[in-house]
Amino acid sequence: MPVPALIVHGGAGDIPPAEHQDYLAGCRVAFETGWRLLERGQSALDAVEAAVREMEDNPTFDAGVGSVLNSEGEIELDAMIMDGAQLRLGAVAAVRGIANPVTLARRIMEESGHNILVGEGARQYAARIGLRLCSQAELTVPREVARYREFQQAAMRARKLALIGHDTVGAVAMDQFGNIAAATSTGGIAFKLPGRVGDSPLVGSGAYADNLSGGASATGHGEAIMRVLLSKTATDAVASGLTAQEAADRALQILRERVNGEGGLIVLDRHGNVGFAHNTPYMAVAWRGPEGVMHVTMQAERGRTGTR
Ligand code: ASP
Repeated sequence: MPVPALIVHGGAGDIPPAEHQDYLAGCRVAFETGWRLLERGQSALDAVEAAVREMEDNPTFDAGVGSVLNSEGEIELDAMIMDGAQLRLGAVAAVRGIANPVTLARRIMEESGHNILVGEGARQYAARIGLRLCSQAELTVPREVARYREFQQAAMRARKLALIGHDTVGAVAMDQFGNIAAATSTGGIAFKLPGRVGDSPLVGSGAYADNLSGGASATGHGEAIMRVLLSKTATDAVASGLTAQEAADRALQILRERVNGEGGLIVLDRHGNVGFAHNTPYMAVAWRGPEGVMHVTMQAERGRTGTR
């Protein structure tokens, strides 16, 4: 019988050291929430949805409450979930006023007969199935308002700031039946244009899951990530015989070498081994693999000192 495994991430980016403890605590709680379900015999889908919801509800991360603001000062959310048993997926893009887009993505997958809904249509679907809608104000935190003002001032002075958020959240799990699922949720990148869709809700880019190989969830600069299908590239690497860690390293190398992209990813193989890689200053990750020990780390880029 397969031993359950779970890995979650809270984004890869230039996470200020003063915020490291919040990221680590948020990843730990999300991990524990998902793990509890796996221990009780619930599905990998339940575990990744619950772990990601936990981080959507945590204002530390760029997902759900706490998301970055776009160039109009609004929040538009992207999310997806994928079931590796049947290669089913659900996703939402550029949706407004939803606290838990990962749950909307799952309901779309299971109930709508479609894979992806965007914008107002996604919000209407959420209302129709009784998910709680919320105002922009409920999702907006002072940290992001301050960041928005900085971008506005930079735009007025025609100065370019890096359009990067990188605190997207994600999870990949395997349950006791060997089913693998992956989920990713994000507010996207700061000061993005309204209607912009990143990698997170795009199958194979922001996430991928296939029981026959493994699963992955990505974070980083979506415009680059989607050009190399980062998550599918990683699971294909696992299918070709690489370990989860080798696959994460390989996918990241392709991101860097082919499109000069910045970001990170988590990978889980069908034996429950995990791996992760990033080329940003930091990446926050929590996991438990086949050896049965939980880890939480703020991984520093090679050559820098991390907070373990
Ligand atoms: N990948 C996300 C996007 O481009 C951003 C992030 O990872 O924080 O929308």
